Amino acid sequence: MAKKSPWHSVKAPVYHDDTNCNTGNNIERENLRSGTGGKAKCSECKRLG
Ligand SMILES: [Zn+2]
Repeated sequence: MAKKSPWHSVKAPVYHDDTNCNTGNNIERENLRSGTGGKAKCSECKRLG
């Protein structure tokens, strides 16, 4: 239920898909992109999901 479509930061090697992820929520707007970016899933999102 906290799931949404994936997003990622151009500065990080991982993507996020959980709205409760602190790291995912702290991405600066200018670095934010939608999609996985072909990256691995963030460990916090993995734990939350
Ligand atoms: Zn995350």
